[in-house]
Amino acid sequence: MIAFDNSFTRLPARMFTPQNPTPVRAPQMLAHNDALAKMLGIDPDWLSTAEAAQVLAGNVVPDGAAPLAQLYAGHQFGNWNPQLGDGRAILLGEVVGADGVRRDIQLKGSGPTPYSRSGDGRAWLGPVLREYLVSEAMAAMGVPTTRALAAVATGEVVQRETRLPGAVLTRIAQSHIRVGSFQVHAARQDQEALQALADHVIARHYPDADGITGLLDAVVASQARLIAAWMGLGFIHGVMNTDNMAISGETIDYGPCAFMDVYDPQQVFSSIDRMGRYAYANQPGIALWNLAQFATALIPLMPDQDAAIEDFTQRINRFPDLYQAEWVKVFGAKVGISDPVSANADLIQRLLTLMAQDGADFTNTFATLATPQAQDQFTDRAAFAAWSQDWERRRAPDYATIMAGANPQVIPRNHRVEDVIAAAVAGDMAPFHRLLGVVTEPFAALDTDRRHYALPPTSAEIVTATFCGT
Ligand code: AMP
Ligand code: MG
Repeated sequence: MIAFDNSFTRLPARMFTPQNPTPVRAPQMLAHNDALAKMLGIDPDWLSTAEAAQVLAGNVVPDGAAPLAQLYAGHQFGNWNPQLGDGRAILLGEVVGADGVRRDIQLKGSGPTPYSRSGDGRAWLGPVLREYLVSEAMAAMGVPTTRALAAVATGEVVQRETRLPGAVLTRIAQSHIRVGSFQVHAARQDQEALQALADHVIARHYPDADGITGLLDAVVASQARLIAAWMGLGFIHGVMNTDNMAISGETIDYGPCAFMDVYDPQQVFSSIDRMGRYAYANQPGIALWNLAQFATALIPLMPDQDAAIEDFTQRINRFPDLYQAEWVKVFGAKVGISDPVSANADLIQRLLTLMAQDGADFTNTFATLATPQAQDQFTDRAAFAAWSQDWERRRAPDYATIMAGANPQVIPRNHRVEDVIAAAVAGDMAPFHRLLGVVTEPFAALDTDRRHYALPPTSAEIVTATFCGT
């Protein structure tokens, strides 16, 4: 039923550990993604079968799968951790989709592995549904991201701060290879593994890259695009550790992530991010920091290491300009400017400054910017009117069309996500499915059914922190 073609297992054995999922008591399919199944070459009808629930809960290992846990390391909140690895995720195998792209099929929450440390290898329903919703919304908004194929309830209890229902997410990614996947072999001075991983990644993700240097350039460019896309949506990843940055350039490891309501560049959601390291405005700088760690991990592969350090430093330092160019493209489209020259950065920045001063809702300001409702977002109406006059002179003739394709009407707002998780814990999945339907058509006009989901939280509804106890 799944035509596996596993390439990662052909890499040196010390890069992973074969590991079967641990069976659960009572698998029950909660949500499945038929369109994604089709793209992967999996029969969507199969997803509705009892067998699929067994397979995607980890109770049955399907033919052709080669389940394994991947080894990686990483900097967590800036601190080096020499060994992490898939502690609660198991790669079932890879498939080559209808589009010719190779993708991982991974179960997240499928039981302990040799890398679990003190963890239980499990996930509870909340983070599984959050990742499902947010990753599918990101995909619908055109952001590179891992995807959600299915969520299965385990029928078992997971112990966190309280007893919570367990679940397994089936995650799809172009690969789960991270900056930390390189770091672990560099730290162990394992040149052979490092080179094998680099070759694998170049062949898989960046076939046009010219060697290690080309790989570095390609990853720098893809991260510049990715972070600019996040910024344009008010998205805060929450845990940009080097083990949570995918080499493919996809958004990965949705934990305490969220979209901002009110525009506040210093916004943080993660309850464990007390210093605000991963605040909205810090994300480009952290990406650069992570890329520097990636470059450092690649140095041992270069014949002249002193020269490589100098060369890589220059290549990494191109990130701010690359990012700025992507940022102007993203925000230029958001304000309907077709030739996003850097001179427009100032116009965009003035709008953002006003939004921050007046506590404007990020999504709704851009979603309504071309309408009279936009002024409702501002307390200093005169300042906004003055900005609008400048804007009218600079925007493209077809600005409304450009903006409609760049500004989502609905994002998975944190309070709505929390609502549907609470309902799901109480046994009602209908609110989840309604929200999923809305956020996966983010650019559609707001009809009566959808308007509710575009409303920012009332003061009582504001979710201040997303817990990392995932
Ligand atoms: P994260 O920051 O959530 O991506 O996870 C950091 C590390 O902790 C990774 O190596 C995870 O596999 C591991 N981890 C997180 N939660 C658990 C858990 N419940 N059981 C085992 N390992 C976990
Ligand atoms: Mg992680």
